[in-house]
Amino acid sequence: MVREPDELGDGVAVVSAAARITVLSGAGVSTDSGIPDFRGPNGLWTKDPKAERLSSFQAYVEDPEVRRASWQARLAHPVWRAEPNDAHRALVKLEKAGRLVSVVTQNIDGLHQRAGSTSVLELHGSMRETVCLQCNERRPMAEALERVAEGTADPSCRVCGGILKSATISFGQPLDTDVLMAARDAVLSSDLMLAVGSSLSVQPAAGLVGLAAQAGTTVVICNASETPYDDLATIVLRDPLGEVLPALIR
Ligand SMILES: [Zn+2]
Repeated sequence: MVREPDELGDGVAVVSAAARITVLSGAGVSTDSGIPDFRGPNGLWTKDPKAERLSSFQAYVEDPEVRRASWQARLAHPVWRAEPNDAHRALVKLEKAGRLVSVVTQNIDGLHQRAGSTSVLELHGSMRETVCLQCNERRPMAEALERVAEGTADPSCRVCGGILKSATISFGQPLDTDVLMAARDAVLSSDLMLAVGSSLSVQPAAGLVGLAAQAGTTVVICNASETPYDDLATIVLRDPLGEVLPALIR
């Protein structure tokens, strides 16, 4: 970790001076809430490479075995017991102060909203809903999980019998164009891009930081490890998010 002694102070000054802030948040924001990330040292895919296959859309559609394993993984997911942490709460303060354009998040856990953020763009969807792959009906995830808990290994759509999936973007699925366009608009109407808890390795989400820099928007990156966009940032902070975000947003 390389940080000049006054870099947090510089970060506070830069964030305090900004009037319109777009936040890009990644898995690092939720690790303090007990939700593991994917590629970190304790990440889901680092510890169990097979789990990555569960995130392939094609495998999900073609293989009932993958769907049954996915439903068990959803049922056991730590998100259902997770509470928002200090990093989520700091971003709510930013919105209440009228200085937030949007939280653009790569997270699917809904913890920003649980903390009280209302201007949230979920680039990768939400695991709090299911979507039918045939008729697009959306329902609360809790309904499907209840059926799984009662013994239905691969619950299908009650309307049309189609395959149900969490309303998230799997590998091999395109992002929702409307959400992505809204995220780009948010970035372009901001004077500060604050990228927090993301390794900035997944596109097109990470590219929003490049877009901001290109537009002349100040970029501040807070992440435990290096990102490919660190060189574009005015300030890079490696401190734990539960400490650095409340310090930056006072
Ligand atoms: Zn359906």
